[in-house]
Amino acid sequence: MPNHDHTPHGHVPESALVLFSGGQDSATCLAWALERYPYVETVGFAYGQRHAVELTCRPPLRHGIGELFPGRLGADHVLDLGASLAAIGETALTSQAEIRMTAEGLPSTFVPGRNLVFLTYAAALAYRRGLRRIVTGVCETDYSGYPDCRDDTIKAMQLALNLGLERRFVVETPLMWRDKAAAWALADKLGGNRLVELIVEGSHSCYLGDHTTHHDWGYGCGTCPACALRAAGWKKWKGQA
Ligand code: ZN
Repeated sequence: MPNHDHTPHGHVPESALVLFSGGQDSATCLAWALERYPYVETVGFAYGQRHAVELTCRPPLRHGIGELFPGRLGADHVLDLGASLAAIGETALTSQAEIRMTAEGLPSTFVPGRNLVFLTYAAALAYRRGLRRIVTGVCETDYSGYPDCRDDTIKAMQLALNLGLERRFVVETPLMWRDKAAAWALADKLGGNRLVELIVEGSHSCYLGDHTTHHDWGYGCGTCPACALRAAGWKKWKGQA
């Protein structure tokens, strides 16, 4: 039996911690985990991000997705990483700088090593909570050039975390080889129209934090890299591409 207590003791094998930011990918991952595992907790990070609106999207979206898989969703955790990532990164996600491509071919929204930091915090939390699987929505397919989203990076992180924490965590990446169209298709398969509608209306991807302009694929400025990916994936999924 999974431990539904909010202070689980010891190891809960069929349990997962989902890195849940409130965006399309992590919302899809949350549904993916809830469909598979009887007990799922979520973690989000506050790090001075420009699109902090995603943090306010999290609770209602999380609640809505949880209702589709009754009795499985446990505690939510929001870890405040303070200004450290902003101070290190000084990129467009955490300052008012314009989003553009850098000389390295990376969008200026790139916060160096962000996903490595997130995974490390998530693993430390999973250790304390007795959760075995860590689920993250990173993806190598619709690839923005983030090297910490690569499959090899994640596999290396899993090894490092298991050695460093003396655990047997499994880092799961259901979207690694799916493009955005396939991510919409997966949401449809997992939760049908209701889940697709929840993600369209309730999730946030836009780097500029625009949550007032509505499109058929959801809210956003429509032109930043995150909006462009999301819109293109939606159109492809709908067969309009
Ligand atoms: Zn946008």
